[in-house]
This record gives sequence, C-alpha cells and structure tokens, in this order.
Amino acid sequence: MHMKMEKFSMGIGDRFGHQGRAQLTAFITAARSGVHVVPVWNKSNREHLIVHSEPSAVRAEADDAVRSLGWKGTYHVDADHIGIKTVDRFLPVSDFFTIDVADFIGKPTDEPGLDDLIRQLAKVGPRPEIPSVSRPFELAPEKIVAIAAKYLSAVKEAGRVYRYIEKSRGRGNFITEVSMDETDRPQTPEDLLVILAALACEGVPVQTIAPKFTGRFNKGVDYQGDPAVFEREFMDDIAVVAFAVRHFGLPGDLKLSVHSGSDKFSIYAPINRTVKRMNCGLHLKTAGTTWLEEIAALAAVGGEGTTFAREVYAGALDHYDELCAPYASVIDIDKSRLPSAKKVQSLPGDAFAAMIRHDANNPAYNPWVRQLLHVGYKLAANAGPRYSSLLKTYAEPIGRAVTENILNRHLLKIFG
Ligand SMILES: [Zn+2]
Repeated sequence: MHMKMEKFSMGIGDRFGHQGRAQLTAFITAARSGVHVVPVWNKSNREHLIVHSEPSAVRAEADDAVRSLGWKGTYHVDADHIGIKTVDRFLPVSDFFTIDVADFIGKPTDEPGLDDLIRQLAKVGPRPEIPSVSRPFELAPEKIVAIAAKYLSAVKEAGRVYRYIEKSRGRGNFITEVSMDETDRPQTPEDLLVILAALACEGVPVQTIAPKFTGRFNKGVDYQGDPAVFEREFMDDIAVVAFAVRHFGLPGDLKLSVHSGSDKFSIYAPINRTVKRMNCGLHLKTAGTTWLEEIAALAAVGGEGTTFAREVYAGALDHYDELCAPYASVIDIDKSRLPSAKKVQSLPGDAFAAMIRHDANNPAYNPWVRQLLHVGYKLAANAGPRYSSLLKTYAEPIGRAVTENILNRHLLKIFG
C-alpha cells in the first residue's frame, strides 16, 4: 500500500507564507462548483535558501489553512526539487518529495542497470503498440542504449534519493515525484518510456513524473511555442504513462506533472481536453504566480505599497544578473524591453500594476517586467519585516487577488 496520489492536484507555492488561506479558498470555491483538486503546498530548497525559511513553516501554513477553513479533502506538502544533499530538513514535515535529477542527465555511469533495462523493454518489443499515440514508436536496442546513455545516471540517482527518503519516512508514507524539467533539451515520448522503464527497474514507485516538454515554460508568463505541437506531445506522454503502468508495474496512480505550470494560458485548453479525452490524472505545479499577485496588488494600493513595489523593481534592475542566474533555463527576458527605474517611479501605482498583471489583452502588460519581478522575490525577502508588515496591512486586496488568480485563471481553466 502506498499513499495515494489523487487524480487531480495542483501545486501552490507561497514564498512568504502568508497566502495559504487565500490559496485554499480557491480550491474550496472550485470544489463547490464540482471541480475537485487536491492542493499541494510546494516550496523548493532554492526558494527556502533565498527567503531564509524552513520547510516546517510550509507544513504549519498548510495545516493552519486546512484547519481554519475546514477543508475536508486531502492535501500535501511537497519538498520541491530536492536532492540527496538538500532533502534532510524536509524529511520530518513533507509527505510529497520531488526528486530533481536534471543535473544528472547526460552524465556517464558505470553502474549496472543497462541489461535490466533492455530486458524490461524487451517485454514490449522494438515497436511497442501504445494506444492513442500520434505515431508509431521505434525502440531498437541501439536506440535504447542511446537513450539510456542520457538518462540512466539520472534514474540511478533518483533511486538513491528515493531509498534515502524511504528509510526515513517508511515505505508508502509519501508521494514520489521525479523531475527532469530544469534542463535545456526536452524529453521525447520515447525518452519518457525508457525513463519510466528504468525507474521501474530501479524500484522507484514513481507517482508523478515531470518531463521537460517542447517549448519554453518560462516563469510567470505564457507558454512560448506551438500549442498544437505541445498538445500532440502531451497526448503521447500521457499514453506512454498509461502504457508504462500496465507493462512495467509502476503505481496505478502515476501521472504527469507539469512544472512551471502557472500562467500557461495558451495551453490550458489543450491540457484540459487531452486530460478529459484520456481520462487520466494530472499534477500542475505553480509557485511564483502568488508572489506576483502580492507585488502587483501592492503596486496598485498606493502609498507605501506602491513605493515598495517600485523599490523592488529598481533593485531587480540593479541585481539583474545575480537574480536571473539560478533561473536561467526558465526565464527569457528581453532587457531592452525593461523600463528604467526612473520611468517606473513616474508611473501611477495602477499603471505599474498593469505592467505586472498577466493580462495579455492589456497593452500595458509587460512580460519582461513580470519575469524579472518573478525572480526578484529575493529583494522582498531581504526587506524582512517591512515586507511582512505590508502583507499584513494589505492582506485584504492581496488575498482577493491571490484567490482570484488561482481559481479563475488556473483551477477552473485547467481542471474545470
Ligand atoms: Zn520544476
């Protein structure tokens, strides 16, 4: 028996830990209209380091929101993007672990495993007949070897981290996600099939898997790429997941996880209809979209809130390289499109807020400003109590914006 991963779930990050109730309100409202999605509070090690927070605070926030709003459904706390060196402090408080092995892709390994993998894949033959895929799959032994050369060491690492977590939490007491999204090259559906077969060989009971899809999944802004190409690949990936469950003995609740999933408005309709057509589960992870609601709402309130938002923007311009470096594979900023700090200083609060808010129909919307502020949360973290006290003073308008964003722009569009 293992902790079951429910069919639909959405990851909600909350960098500063003030919006748990506002976020959960969105799930409660969605459930009232028949859209049942399990909330998962995720925070990566990287975010904890930047904000100087502890994983126990995420657990406390989730428990508090659930208790105070009377949520009767399940919920999880995700140790997001952890590895063997960073997982320890998450072990006592998380029940969902996102094992990030992207850094191990392409690394040579002399560990055994290739023979097992070839045997595992021999079960389905060199031309596996996978229902619902858009084209025939071809997995001759040479191709398996080539794919394994890219991913076997990542899968081995996933096994090591999984067993380490299992030793501490106990088998079946947590949800296992494996992520390979933070890399430059996307994984094809064939890659995914081989990776899943290898995870099965390695004994990792993976319940959600986050591949890197084709196209850019930049933080806080819309998908960059051809939605039709994405839809085909997404459909093939879903078909591969179902096939892998059937043939390799992976957990029946295994599903895809879409990372950097917030604000991808142009692919939500394709995701929604594909998931319905395939009657499958889905996890979609968001994080910084909530921080962006905070800063946009503050920009709009006037007075001290607007002053603070302007300062964060000016600081982000000053510390551009340092802020962008950790997120290089998930942002694309055209620096020439960033207004100067002086320009932003001269704008009224709501005009600045309109630059930040993700409304593609508003000519004032500036996706480069939005991405820069997305990675600029470190500056709000550095402001310490000054930022927390603004979050408290303006809790009402900020909370409303956070709920509205999670509910109407995400939950209902993706899962409704
Ligand atoms: Zn990710």
